[in-house]
Amino acid sequence: MKSYRMFVNGEWIDAKSKQTREIIDPGNSELIAKVPESGREDIVVAVHAARTAFDQGPWKNLTALERGKFLFKISELIRRESKRLAELEVKNCGKPLAEAEFDISDAANCFEFYGGLATKIHGETMSVPANSMSFVVREPVGVCGQIIPWNYPLLMASWKLAPALAAGCTVILKPSELTPLTALELAELIQEAGLPKGVVNVVTGPGAGAGEELASNKLINKVAFTGGTVTGRKVLEGASSNLKRVTLELGGKNPNIVFADCDLEAAIDGGLFAAFANQGEVCSAGSRILVEKSLHKSLVDGMLAKINRIKLGHGLLPGVKMGPLVSQQHLEKVQSYIQVGIQEGAKLICGGKRPEGSEFSKGNFLMPTIFDHVSPQMRIAREEIFGPVLSVIPFSTEEEAIQIANDTEYGLAAAVWSKNIFRALRVIRQLRAGITWINTYHPTFNEMPWGGYKQSGWGRELGLHGIEGYLETKQININLDEAPINWY
Ligand code: NDP
Repeated sequence: MKSYRMFVNGEWIDAKSKQTREIIDPGNSELIAKVPESGREDIVVAVHAARTAFDQGPWKNLTALERGKFLFKISELIRRESKRLAELEVKNCGKPLAEAEFDISDAANCFEFYGGLATKIHGETMSVPANSMSFVVREPVGVCGQIIPWNYPLLMASWKLAPALAAGCTVILKPSELTPLTALELAELIQEAGLPKGVVNVVTGPGAGAGEELASNKLINKVAFTGGTVTGRKVLEGASSNLKRVTLELGGKNPNIVFADCDLEAAIDGGLFAAFANQGEVCSAGSRILVEKSLHKSLVDGMLAKINRIKLGHGLLPGVKMGPLVSQQHLEKVQSYIQVGIQEGAKLICGGKRPEGSEFSKGNFLMPTIFDHVSPQMRIAREEIFGPVLSVIPFSTEEEAIQIANDTEYGLAAAVWSKNIFRALRVIRQLRAGITWINTYHPTFNEMPWGGYKQSGWGRELGLHGIEGYLETKQININLDEAPINWY
């Protein structure tokens, strides 16, 4: 059991209250660490550190090349520690090791991408009257508060930190109270990389208090949030105190549309992966599978035939494909949705309960669950469950599929399975979602923008778009005449 401290102004400190929080392995309920439980007063200290580092420190005045090299160094250090970080991620949030290894590698790639992009932030100039010159420069937005969830702890920290640092911002990052460990380990690597003090501050603490202060503190110029839509709305309210720049990455209830002319085996495989990767605790999970009626039985039978391959267990055990849910409280929330589905009259065709066996008794395990004959109006088809629960919704026509797919307050992700490329593209163009796939589900790239339409968020992370949220735009006008203009 390791006792962590928080990283503020280049130093490792406790919460002012000296309170700590116990961090539990959701796969076996073992105590794995203690972290400081900060409150508003600790956030204020970190905000002052980041403000001073931005206003007086060297970071924003380094050349882009110099900043980029720091990011390359962080990437290299994540790779050096990748085995340890992946195992820690499994213990802290429950995901299978292979998924954690992928996340850590992608986190390193993210720092590398933005290390390279730092030197490609360009201004512009326009044709103006001959006695003038006018050009546009991009400047860092300033001090950034960053709030992240528990499902991809190190990856979300990297998606937030890398573009902010590349742009020249300083940061206060708050991981979820449940999964702070890899973010604190990342802070150690950032210290080792030699970033100036106060540029990156990692504070641990709950949303109530610490998170609220980050959203509302007036010395912060921008808040970047990933989490639930309800919390996102609260962050937005807090940010209105000083009209901060805001980016939000929120929830989804994503349609995965399977047409009868698809490759059935690929769609079966993709349907399961879409719904059950990372225990379904994924904002972009394909939690609604919309299937053309003539293929309905074959698709469902195919998924049932394969579902036993999703081996449950502690994420560090070999062959495990699905770990525990992140907490007992979250398990209960997902179980309550299963009861809702049964009461609403959907047909539970597999799972719906905890697995039997002593190896599962101390973890928050839940069997992968499929409801068939779900109607689009049911709550399990409309609300984000954020767990391993898949709803199968049959449809008759292309138009009906599009209508059901778009009939949601969310607009994060969507997919289409069809061998007919005309149809696939036609349907994709009609879907109101920010991330879409054809004949695949989940792959995404640091180079491409990530974010949602409608209530799935504001703005985009990753790719060239991802840095925009960390930049201001300034026009500089120069008078080439030496004489006064003599207006008066
Ligand atoms: P929450 O919205 O509960 O929490 C997200 C973060 O916000 C946590 O760090 C939390 O702190 C903090 N927080 C909670 N309340 C407040 C508040 N009032 N003010 C400021 N910060 C606050 O989401 P979960 O952690 O439960 O994550 C799951 C949700 O995140 C899902 O709904 C999912 O869809 C969404 N998500 C979206 C992604 C996307 O890219 N669009 C990616 C991943 C998840 P703490 O936990 O410490 O209390």
